[in-house]
Amino acid sequence: MEHEVIVVGAGPGGATAAMALAQKGYDVLLLDRKDFPRDKICGDAVPATALDLLYSLGMAEKIKEAGFYYIDKIRLVSPKGYSMDADLEEEDHLTHSAIVPREDFDVLLQQHAIDSGANFIQAHVKEPIVEDGRVTGVLARVNGSVKEFRSKVVLAADGVTSAIARTIRPDDHVDHHRAVALRAYIEDIEELPHQVEFYLYQEILPGYAWIFPLGEGKANIGLGMRLDTFREKNYNLKKMLQDFMEMPDIKKRLKNGGQVHGVATWQLNFGSQKNIRRAYDGALLVGDAAGFINPLTGGGISNAVISAWLATETVHQAFLKEDFSLNTLKVYEEYCEQQLWRGLRRSYYLQRVMEYAPFAVDWLVKRAQSSSEFAQIFMTKL
Ligand SMILES: Cc1cc2nc3c(=O)[nH]c(=O)nc-3n(C[C@H](O)[C@H](O)[C@H](O)COP(=O)(O)OP(=O)(O)OC[C@H]3O[C@@H](n4cnc5c(N)ncnc54)[C@H](O)[C@@H]3O)c2cc1C
Repeated sequence: MEHEVIVVGAGPGGATAAMALAQKGYDVLLLDRKDFPRDKICGDAVPATALDLLYSLGMAEKIKEAGFYYIDKIRLVSPKGYSMDADLEEEDHLTHSAIVPREDFDVLLQQHAIDSGANFIQAHVKEPIVEDGRVTGVLARVNGSVKEFRSKVVLAADGVTSAIARTIRPDDHVDHHRAVALRAYIEDIEELPHQVEFYLYQEILPGYAWIFPLGEGKANIGLGMRLDTFREKNYNLKKMLQDFMEMPDIKKRLKNGGQVHGVATWQLNFGSQKNIRRAYDGALLVGDAAGFINPLTGGGISNAVISAWLATETVHQAFLKEDFSLNTLKVYEEYCEQQLWRGLRRSYYLQRVMEYAPFAVDWLVKRAQSSSEFAQIFMTKL
């Protein structure tokens, strides 16, 4: 089967790339090992930056109709327990940031990619087809048998465990630039309406625990921390969640003892590690497959969508030149550097401050009180 472009993975990165390319008139095959809707382990916080880009790809009506639970406030709690509430400053955006279960969010994007003209097949990609050093397609399991899919270019948006990246990029992230996180859902919490909460307490730094409200007493609750610290201290994330929910300020807000469900853990690859390649002969890595997670917040939806957009521009130029070699595709790395690297470095710097100078976080939270730039970063860099 021949297509102009194959996109592997229909999460935010893959679905965005597929819809953008299909709208430009390309013959796009979108593959995902799961049928949609499907769950994705996440805090479910979708920043306005990502929604802006989806609006520009014609999703405004679908997003408005879906009625996402919007966010307009942030609470930050420092290691010593200082707390600050700030309004989320999003005047420059087309809409508010929102908390949306990924099961609902991702199917909306996947459907928009299909509506835009992409062909979707449920297929578990095993590996890329590499000929003379160039990616020319993928091998994927469909309905129990392995099939070959060929294309001029492959976009790997198959997440942190990417089957494409595993083959073409042997240099992986080190533990210092990775994290592990747990998310759960709770149905009986006294939530702060339309306000996200970040708890930066000593034990978990430079990570945090979160409560992201979904309305009517429901919330996404979880925590995440850097993988090297997690291993060093031999922590157990489920136990840490229990301990977090036992904190007096949290416990008193749990109406019926705080039963959680949907408890699951997953890994994150930060975009702070240098010298990671994202462009290859015939292939580009996008979103989590490229390791673009923000090292301060653990957010990755925004960078997945932005990198997908940059990959789309790169692929469009490659078609104009009829050249899909690394020589043409490597401009993608420059685009990513210009658009993402500065924010990722700044977040990495703040992550180090949190690790080595937690008192600075106390100082920032205590002093800033409201409308601090520090607080904005937590939501805008998700
Ligand atoms: C616990 C946790 C909390 C998080 N909270 C937030 C948050 O609140 N806000 C935020 O912005 N980010 C958050 N993130 C990060 C965010 O989930 C990711 O950055 C984001 O999902 C990346 O999108 P993506 O499209 O690159 O990859 P994914 O969303 O992982 O999508 C990859 C897709 O590829 C498919 N796939 C995988 N392998 C194959 C294969 N071999 N063949 C075919 N298909 C395949 C998968 O089924 C999936 O649909 C969190 C992450 C974790 C782990």
